[in-house]
Amino acid sequence: MKTLFRLQNFLLVLLISACQPSGVVFPDAICIENVSVIQPEEGLIENQTVIVQGEKIFKVVPSADLNLSPENQIIDGKGKYLMPGLWDAHVHFAYMEELAPSMFDLFLGYGITSVRDTGGRIDFVKMWKDKALANPNDAPRVMIAGPLLDGIPNVYDGSTPQRPPLSVGLPTLEAAAKKVNELDSLGVDLLKAYEMLTPEQFALIAKMAKEKGLKVTGHVPLSMDVISASNAGLSSMEHMRNLELSCASNADELLQQRLELLKTEKDSAGGILRSKIHELQRETAVKNYDEIKAKEILAVLANNQTWQIPTLALSAFLTNRHFEHPEWRESITFFPEVIEQEWEKAAVSIQKMPITPFRIQYAEWSLKMVKKIHETKIEIMAGTDCPIALLTPGLSLHEELAMLVQAGLTPLEAIKTATVNPAKYFNLQHELGLVQEGMWADLILLDANPIENIANTKSINAVVKNGKYFNKRQLNKILKRDRSPEK
Ligand SMILES: [Zn+2]
Repeated sequence: MKTLFRLQNFLLVLLISACQPSGVVFPDAICIENVSVIQPEEGLIENQTVIVQGEKIFKVVPSADLNLSPENQIIDGKGKYLMPGLWDAHVHFAYMEELAPSMFDLFLGYGITSVRDTGGRIDFVKMWKDKALANPNDAPRVMIAGPLLDGIPNVYDGSTPQRPPLSVGLPTLEAAAKKVNELDSLGVDLLKAYEMLTPEQFALIAKMAKEKGLKVTGHVPLSMDVISASNAGLSSMEHMRNLELSCASNADELLQQRLELLKTEKDSAGGILRSKIHELQRETAVKNYDEIKAKEILAVLANNQTWQIPTLALSAFLTNRHFEHPEWRESITFFPEVIEQEWEKAAVSIQKMPITPFRIQYAEWSLKMVKKIHETKIEIMAGTDCPIALLTPGLSLHEELAMLVQAGLTPLEAIKTATVNPAKYFNLQHELGLVQEGMWADLILLDANPIENIANTKSINAVVKNGKYFNKRQLNKILKRDRSPEK
């Protein structure tokens, strides 16, 4: 019906314009003319005119085929690049609750038009999802998982500022089932499984999620190996977490050791026990990396379509030292002043942390694995984990894209991980992810070509969210909103 209406509307416009030699008028539309369109699956298409009408993309046509009347609201796209709005597939509104009120503006200002929240108190993340739904032109699309579904002891139990209460500790199978039903009735978009779950709890969560049509993302539970988690129904893996443990030549021995520790130390705090296991096993596992085993595991992940959100900027945060870059420094000036000072202090203390040889080795291992994952044709989504590890909401996604290119993806393939792929993940591929007629008008206009250099995704000239156009000046104002003198 809508399409028919649009067609009628278009024909009417053509009819009117036929009587006017001055060209076609698109009422209440934004016409971006002579622009190079970046289609994540095809590449660059030059000299296009993109008409945004209402909240949607109404037309994408070669500029030569359209005689636009000067009465239209025309944006000159010459020398500019128009691409779909970006997704950050791994964010936490609830990690620093005091930063959450600034996050919509930060995302929009940096061209992030959709985000996937991968864990936080349900009332808090739902509140931000609802706010986003109520203001679709001024906020990113927000998909939520609700709390991390963890076992006992649970990791993010609220015991320290580094471990805010992002998770629920589920003591039994019944508790897990009850929680899944509750989250589903509250309207979560996916579920997030965490590291302390038992294999039985994990399998139940995955089974129930499948019945409800929800995806289960997560960390591979420490009580399992990657193949069994993937076979049980893990839809996607965050940070490639615990993949190294299964790729080690002594993987079986490591699993036995973990099971023993999970049993004998079940009364420890979850965060402490998890760190202890990681410290004990991660380095050994990376040193015992077994190529044949890794190949076998990746083949299973590809076959089961267990997607990967590698969060490379997170795993390399100490070696990459993003918090020393001028861009990062600028980005935190958009925070409320108290938080800016907090982050500055934190950066100083992190600068003093030693970069151990294993830190470097782990960052290199992560890059190498992403290359193999990509070669095995396992789908990847770009995600950051912001605002963890001083990763600025918005800016950090651009850093992640650059790291995916560093790992071996082409710039266009990297762009796909933050546009088409997340849209597909949520079954929104007909609504988002491309510059295509009928899709939601979530777009970024760039001053430089991101296919030539992925760093150019930062050359933002304008952002379109749900059809609303924000030029550079307006974006700057939005970014500075929390610090503007009027406030
Ligand atoms: Zn996370």
